[in-house]
Amino acid sequence: MSDIFKIAILPGDGIGPEVMKQALKILEKIKKYINKKIFIDNYVVGGIAINKYGNPLPKKTLYGCENSNAILFGSVGGPEWDYLPLNKRPEKGSLLKLRKHFNLFANIRPAFFYKNLSILSPLKEKILNKGFDIICIRELTGGIYFGVPNGRKKKGIDEYAFDTEIYSRLEIERIAHIAFNLALKRKKKICSIDKANVLNTSILWREVVTDISKQYTSVKLEHMYIDNAVMQLMKNPSQFDIILCSNLFGDIISDQCAMITGSVGNLPSASFNHDYFGLYEPSGGSAPNIAGKNIANPIAQILSLAMLIEYSLKERNIAQKIKNAIQKVLDLGYRTKDLFTNSKNEKIVTTDDMGTLIMQSII
Ligand code: NAD
Repeated sequence: MSDIFKIAILPGDGIGPEVMKQALKILEKIKKYINKKIFIDNYVVGGIAINKYGNPLPKKTLYGCENSNAILFGSVGGPEWDYLPLNKRPEKGSLLKLRKHFNLFANIRPAFFYKNLSILSPLKEKILNKGFDIICIRELTGGIYFGVPNGRKKKGIDEYAFDTEIYSRLEIERIAHIAFNLALKRKKKICSIDKANVLNTSILWREVVTDISKQYTSVKLEHMYIDNAVMQLMKNPSQFDIILCSNLFGDIISDQCAMITGSVGNLPSASFNHDYFGLYEPSGGSAPNIAGKNIANPIAQILSLAMLIEYSLKERNIAQKIKNAIQKVLDLGYRTKDLFTNSKNEKIVTTDDMGTLIMQSII
């Protein structure tokens, strides 16, 4: 195996470049602990690439990603490009294309709870006291978002619209393997979400996930209907460790997981293909309303880097060092504007300061 590891850096639009700068400070600091030689290359993507090259995903960027071992993505989009047709816009024209090009079928979104940020969560203190540390694994390239036929027919009162939810055994098997492998490294517990009391795709989903579980006998598998799962997440999120979902259910439940943590600026995500080639990015968007003001929260971008280090570089301890540093900075009361609640001991800091404080706290 090569001792060189290349990361394609795609900062993108809006707050993307500001928060990416902070992640790169962290990378510079921890490089020396990593067993491989790290090389980074910057590429333009999204709206800025449209302005420069007339294409949200220029060939050079795609080629750079193909020749890298992982992609660290910022965020793309903004009102400046909203006039363009959907498939020429930054998100569809770059991020969705990258997901398709690399067949990134597994989306992983952790949602964990920082004790001292409980005031930001909509959940009650007595629920939050138990804490939670959930990973939502969402199938990303199949299901109702891509199923054919879909469309609209007829006019007037007879008009109707339709979408097709379709899953093959192979699609379910491969996402289930991702979930079970991850469960082995965590609490050995999976809750698979479906609607098997109504939908054929869910019946197959439940059967296949149960079949795959026989290869991972140490992992406890539970099935839950989506309607119950959204209630349970509000009532007692601490009962979950890994949540495994189809594309549609994962879209909904991963946002609910984000919401109960209280801040989108803290949440990273990763998307993998079967070779575990990964694209790592914050869960939020390009936040054009705060771009260029040095007030964005860089934690999601820094945690996206931590995920890259954990999953692509397989350096779990180094990723943990970064997470510990973030916890320490938050414990000391430092907050970007989105996290600031004016409570005792809180000190408001800029994006740049937050990045530097986290970097300095890594030991
Ligand atoms: P958004 O996530 O950009 O912003 C929603 C709210 O969250 C805003 O108030 C924003 O200020 C805040 N926010 C988000 N990230 C933050 C951070 N790191 N620190 C502090 N506050 C933060 O969602 P939106 O407003 O719906 O979309 C804005 C643009 O981003 C759109 O063009 C959309 O298409 C694009 N978008 C891109 C991605 C991506 O690149 N993966 C994802 C979602 C949306």
